[in-house]
Amino acid sequence: MTLGTASVMPGQPAAIVDLLREGPTFSFEFFPPKTPKGEETLWQAIRELEPLQPSFVSVTYGAGGSTRAGTVNTTDRIAAETTLLPLAHFTAVNHSVEELRNLIGHFAAGGVRNIIALRGDPPGDPLGEWTQHPQGLKYAYQLVELIKSSGDFCVGVAAFPEKHPRSPDWDTCTQHFIEKCRAGADYAITQFFFDWQDWVRLRDAVDAAGVDVPIIPGVMPVTNVKQIKRMAELSGAEFPADLARRLQAVAEDADAVRAIGVEVATELSQRLLAEGAPGIHFITMNRSTATREVWQNLRPVAARSA
Ligand code: FAD
Repeated sequence: MTLGTASVMPGQPAAIVDLLREGPTFSFEFFPPKTPKGEETLWQAIRELEPLQPSFVSVTYGAGGSTRAGTVNTTDRIAAETTLLPLAHFTAVNHSVEELRNLIGHFAAGGVRNIIALRGDPPGDPLGEWTQHPQGLKYAYQLVELIKSSGDFCVGVAAFPEKHPRSPDWDTCTQHFIEKCRAGADYAITQFFFDWQDWVRLRDAVDAAGVDVPIIPGVMPVTNVKQIKRMAELSGAEFPADLARRLQAVAEDADAVRAIGVEVATELSQRLLAEGAPGIHFITMNRSTATREVWQNLRPVAARSA
């Protein structure tokens, strides 16, 4: 289906920007499964996290070798079969503007109103050369403009408290982020990071530029040392040496690794909320246990915001 101007269905879902005005949001990120076993694991996590009534849940798009159809199907199914509010990740990689419009129309038809607009990384090697589709877009801000001009969508963008790995320096990165906000972004979600001061520095720079876009910190409870180190390498996040040492010391004991991951993610989230973070977005890696444990630890804050 092609839609010039997509209209979201009647009785339309909440916009994340409105939820952010009501108090801290708590949200979960999933990735689309590649195998039937992965599908089972994801849906078990979704069903176990659903009773926590998160503000919204997101599904990544085309990242880590996953298929786009997987993203669209998972997002559609969350919208149709659960009580959860879905946020669709959406990238410009290898899409013409016409294809992007079609997908925006598909999301609208499925009742998805919240989209996070991303440039995306090259498939295969995320740090490889970025090539623009001949009829496509080059930067995420252009996707923000396209989605905003296509209907009543609430559009998020990515933020990088430690700077994007492709940016020459922090100031340039932050300036481009501010321009992306000015292009119409309603809010941002950050790459995961471990030092709360990185988020404060970004928030203050954006405030100083007179831009009032809430920046939700992305928090990843560490449950698997190797996996997180690899993700940190790809995302440019600094993996703290003392945390690495603590985790290495118990690397063979999955429960002990998770306990440290939960403790660190809890302390980081508590500090960020105390500093005024508008919410916490948990990167779950499609597992529910660690996220539920951090959530339990944060419950007094979550209850206050309910
Ligand atoms: P952009 O904002 O376009 O920035 C890309 C680079 O270009 C940056 O270095 C930026 O500083 C620079 N830049 C921006 N504007 C300009 C300009 N006007 N002139 C010159 N340079 C400019 N990837 C996926 O593939 N799928 C996902 O689902 C996914 N989800 C994510 C969710 C979150 C919360 C985050 C933080 C990242 C996610 N990513 C995902 C990764 C993201 O797609 C990559 O990090 C990508 O390289 C950058 O995306 P962006 O939207 O920030 O791009």
